[in-house]
Amino acid sequence: MREDICTIPINDVFLPRDGCPLCRMRDMLEERSTVYITGAAMMEPDVRIKTNEKGFCHRHFGMMLKCGTRLSNALILESHLDKLKTEMIPKTVKGKPDKKKIAAIRSVQKSCFVCEQVEWGMAHMYQTIFSSYVTDSEFRALYNDQQFICMEHYADLMTAAVNKGVPSKSLPDFYSDTSKLAGGYLEVLKDDITHFCSMFDYRSKGQDWGNSKDAIERSIEFLTSERIAKDEQQG
Ligand SMILES: [Zn+2]
Ligand SMILES: [Zn+2]
Repeated sequence: MREDICTIPINDVFLPRDGCPLCRMRDMLEERSTVYITGAAMMEPDVRIKTNEKGFCHRHFGMMLKCGTRLSNALILESHLDKLKTEMIPKTVKGKPDKKKIAAIRSVQKSCFVCEQVEWGMAHMYQTIFSSYVTDSEFRALYNDQQFICMEHYADLMTAAVNKGVPSKSLPDFYSDTSKLAGGYLEVLKDDITHFCSMFDYRSKGQDWGNSKDAIERSIEFLTSERIAKDEQQG
């Protein structure tokens, strides 16, 4: 199941050249996983056992509500709540609370079935990126042609490369190319924000905004790995 849902061809992720490719990958994984969990997985008792154990984070509950029916979400919740009720949160406690049960609650709160699927898919994608970067010069050109890599995925790529398959002779190139995609873009963002600010100076009257008009939204996307939705944008 995991392989089908969470394996996405590398070109689907890198060919659009629009924003951070790893953010796109995460979005695709989240979409596939939430559609699956509220759809086909309803017929798979093994999956329900796992979702009952792990639960979901707020972000992914929100996505499940958007893509699944009210009934499918209620059925997932019914068995999850039942597990919590019978195993972790009793109606009455005599004496002290059971430490094991409290620890179990803490672990449910930290876990999310969809987050785990996404993590698995991302780790798999990192490995594919590293091996393609080393062996496939066409992919390397495509990698370097990305618009940017966001802050979070820059840190991920820079730390994972060494353990996950970039041989030491290719590491300096990989680090340098990846830094260009994050640091080079950061420089552009900073200049655009500075230009944006300067346009509020009376001496800039009549000057061109250049690319600075959406510099705030682009900066937030780089910093948080999340696009600002159209209805959240200032007028
Ligand atoms: Zn990203
Ligand atoms: Zn989650």
